[in-house]
Amino acid sequence: MPRLSKSRVMSSLQCLKRVHLEVHHRDWAVYPSNTQAAFETGHQVGDIAVQIYGQGQGTYIAYEDGLSRAVALTRELMDLGHTEPIFEATLEHDGVLVREDVLLPSPSGWHVVEVKASTRRKNEHLQDCAIQAWVHQGAGYRFARFSLAHIDNQFVYEGDGDYRGLLAEEDLTDEVRQLQRSVPVWVDQAKQAVSGPMPKVQVGQHCFSPYECPFFNHCWPVDADYPVHGLKGSRKKLGELVTAGYRDIREVPGDLLSSEDQQRIWRVTRAGQPEVLPAARRFVRELGWPRYYLDFETVGPAIPVWPGTRPYETLPFQWSCHIEDAPGVLRQEEFLDMSGEAPMRPLAEALLEALGNTGPILVYTSYEKGVINGLAARFPDLAPALGALLDRLVDLYPVTKACYYHPDMLGSWSIKAVLPTIDPEMDWKTLQGVHEGTEASTAWLEAVKPGADPVQAAETRRQLLAYCRFDTLAMVRLVAFFTPS
Ligand code: SF4
Repeated sequence: MPRLSKSRVMSSLQCLKRVHLEVHHRDWAVYPSNTQAAFETGHQVGDIAVQIYGQGQGTYIAYEDGLSRAVALTRELMDLGHTEPIFEATLEHDGVLVREDVLLPSPSGWHVVEVKASTRRKNEHLQDCAIQAWVHQGAGYRFARFSLAHIDNQFVYEGDGDYRGLLAEEDLTDEVRQLQRSVPVWVDQAKQAVSGPMPKVQVGQHCFSPYECPFFNHCWPVDADYPVHGLKGSRKKLGELVTAGYRDIREVPGDLLSSEDQQRIWRVTRAGQPEVLPAARRFVRELGWPRYYLDFETVGPAIPVWPGTRPYETLPFQWSCHIEDAPGVLRQEEFLDMSGEAPMRPLAEALLEALGNTGPILVYTSYEKGVINGLAARFPDLAPALGALLDRLVDLYPVTKACYYHPDMLGSWSIKAVLPTIDPEMDWKTLQGVHEGTEASTAWLEAVKPGADPVQAAETRRQLLAYCRFDTLAMVRLVAFFTPS
């Protein structure tokens, strides 16, 4: 029986089959594209916790020499009555291993602090803490207090690397003590799921909550031409359809579908022909000239980088704008700051210059509106001019959603799902390096870090420009597709 980490026990609470697969078939896992970025954020927040709670003091328990060594070192420090913080204290009880983010000594016992990169407490955090508390006590140590420290998104960074106030602490001691009684049951179930045959678990809502399961492609019928999950809507209902044996949207009896969207997806998929409603043509005919097609790339670092910014605040660093002065007369302008300085002000000024005073500004979803609002709030002197841009925004998403569907979109009206159905050459997969927003922000943050490799940074710049241009050209193609001939 292998040792179980806390995260394995947490996986078993989501799904017993998941924990079995994690131990026996790790290579079947396909992680969402933002997993690495989330992992990196967790590390950064952990480092800040060491800075905040340690104030230059304390011992970090490394695990590079193996977990057994980490457990032995932790016990040594705790048994000696260590008087300084311990970070990543590693404890084991009944075959379950936990690493405690922060362990603070106090006369009445240890104060355990679990650090999370989220901006609020979530249900699963309590289970996470209860498992740690059970191992902590089972290993022979008392704890006086158990807290959860998460990011306070109202914190404003003032600079000089001072992040005091970034973490907000919640006392979970009483709730953790109560829930601790359930932990041995969870651990037994996880052990049985790992040591026995693969548990039989039907797919459903739990495949997405509290975490997106990496074994989706194993359990859901993704190899059908139009897999049932492409009906979207209630995941519980989709799970029931799969459990009932339906693999392809076209096999599902229509009377089992209640939502309008599902009925439409089902109808168009069975017909095998895209649906384009005439209202889309009327919509584009009424757009004035010149037409601006705008897209931003943004970052939202958990640990603020520039003074005056908050954790996870959406901050633009790049835009692309295709400008159609008259039918078929197209040019493009763009902005990308690779200096590492706060890019928002020069970006806003360049944007105002490029967008002129008249003509619709076409966007896809309300995201750009939120970014412009954020810039207006940050720079009051630019607010009137930025506010005037808001009056010119035209969102292509609602009209596309209302008027267009192609079976290959599999229930998604994301522009990345729509465009390849209109123009097969317009597929983001053809780009090099950066294919979607999270990749763009991660690549940019990496490239503007002090000491970044200039050759790699230049390559990132090229990829970012190509990606953002592609996004705005996609909207040009979409409008051309809807344009009456
Ligand atoms: S996809 Fe669903 S059923 Fe399959 S292992 Fe994951 S959570 Fe369990």
